Amino acid sequence: MQKGKIFVVGFGPGDREHITKRAVDALQQSDHIMGYKTYVELIQHLVTTKSIVSTGMTEEVSRAQDAVKKAEAGHIVSVISSGDAGVYGMAGLVYEVLIEKGWSESTGIEVEVVPGISAINSCASLLGAPVMHDACTISLSDHLTPWTVIEKRIEAAAMADFVIAFYNPKSGRRTRQIAEAQRILLKYRSPDTPVGLVKSAYRDTQNIILTTLEEMLEHDIGMLTTVVVGNSSTFFYDNKIITPRGYQRKYTLGEEKQILKPHQRLRKEAEPWALDQETGEAEEGHEEIVAVEKKTETPQSKPKLTSLALAKQALSMVKNDPAIGGNEENPFLVQQEIESIFEFAVSPGVANKMITPDQMRILADVLGENGTMEYTPDHRLIVKLPTDNPQKIVGIIEKSGLLVQPVGDVVIVKACDFCYGEKAESIPYAEEITDVLGGIKMPKELHVGFNGCGMACYRAVFDDIGIVYRKKKFDLFIGSKPVGRTAHAAQPVVEGLEPGQLLSLLTDIIADYKENAHPNERFFKYFKRVKKILHFNHYDMTCKIKVEEAPCGD
Ligand code: SAH
Repeated sequence: MQKGKIFVVGFGPGDREHITKRAVDALQQSDHIMGYKTYVELIQHLVTTKSIVSTGMTEEVSRAQDAVKKAEAGHIVSVISSGDAGVYGMAGLVYEVLIEKGWSESTGIEVEVVPGISAINSCASLLGAPVMHDACTISLSDHLTPWTVIEKRIEAAAMADFVIAFYNPKSGRRTRQIAEAQRILLKYRSPDTPVGLVKSAYRDTQNIILTTLEEMLEHDIGMLTTVVVGNSSTFFYDNKIITPRGYQRKYTLGEEKQILKPHQRLRKEAEPWALDQETGEAEEGHEEIVAVEKKTETPQSKPKLTSLALAKQALSMVKNDPAIGGNEENPFLVQQEIESIFEFAVSPGVANKMITPDQMRILADVLGENGTMEYTPDHRLIVKLPTDNPQKIVGIIEKSGLLVQPVGDVVIVKACDFCYGEKAESIPYAEEITDVLGGIKMPKELHVGFNGCGMACYRAVFDDIGIVYRKKKFDLFIGSKPVGRTAHAAQPVVEGLEPGQLLSLLTDIIADYKENAHPNERFFKYFKRVKKILHFNHYDMTCKIKVEEAPCGD
């Protein structure tokens, strides 16, 4: 006899456009479709099945049992759920019925769970982007779950600043739960917290209400509503609810706030889960955990905290830490404001590579507990610290004699150390270039290398623009590709340039690149594309042997 099959199909919010192709295929292949009456009506137009069994809402167990029986008799059966069948849907129940019968994948009937768009996603899409950050779903139905458990979950989610999508918020008889949920949430979240009430998303009777935590109960909430409650940084914008991605925004000198650039959002730091998987860097995180665990094994170190102790510790932090929120009026309030991280570069100077102990101390004091310093290949420290007073920070550091510069897509001037002053003649030119051009915004980071003699030992010819001082004049190189398997030096374009002409020529080259390059286009790529910068023609400097592209990590 032919073996039967059960599809457990999530058909999405309920309209034709938001059901997956696999779900439609499954329904069309099925001999029987079984589901709650209203749902069956929603998908009826998609199928011409011989048997459609619609049952009442509370008959889920018998529906699942019936489906298993039919599949065991050799039929193909679809059990349907709205949204996703694995989110308060039929998937778990079908497996439970199968398990009771001793089913196993190798010997029993075939089971395929077809994923669908759950209410948290369909409702979020209609509200704007309220979910975005860490979120959870909580069903307020205490039909199968004790209220004491639900209550704890609301409390925990509220405390941890999760965005929350409440499913099954209210029904004719069940009205108390949503009011209780609001009461618990108000202990931790501001009354102004944005709340979206979406009824019957993507169905004919769709209704969307934007309200606040304080006022949400004044609106109609029913069985077909999903209540989406924002976190402490969620905001309203033009009839939308938006939760920002993360709690940090970086800015640098001359920029009050971070401008979001599409390519920046795709950096590895911004999308670690998406990009790290293939490079194997995800392993590092794992190692970190192992390292922490190892540490706790040593006899001197603190004993491991139990999860209860950790939870208590977290609660006390929420209560007492003014940075997290909490005030006398409401000690539990979680208010995680967007943190502004000021990011800039520090170096001892253009023509100086020596940092004094005093300067180090001053820098360390300014950074305190929350700042970080990173040493970079271009002889600078990239400094990050949360502050709303960048001027003050810059003032203190500059007073110590250190040079402070912006980071990001700007002109970065790097000079050699002029053999500690022996070849000091050209230092004023390097300083002038830094003063006039350093930090100017560019389509992409632009490195200008300045070397004080023909040795060019600080590798000026491997910068985007290389300047070499030789016999009281300058040689100019442009368009290197400093890294990668097709790396090459810059192309010499001028020899013996008079010192008085250097700055204006550099200014013109940089202006040409700034005005005409595509956003995010590196200098060498731009030169290669346009073939000419000012009157300098591009020559192909790449290796003539075909070299395969090798992205980072391969
Ligand atoms: N499996 C479903 C959830 C079933 S529980 C899913 O993944 O979406 C039923 C609850 O889901 C409802 O009380 C409501 O809160 C939510 N819900 C389901 N469909 C919805 C829709 N179209 N619009 C708004 N909320 C919906």
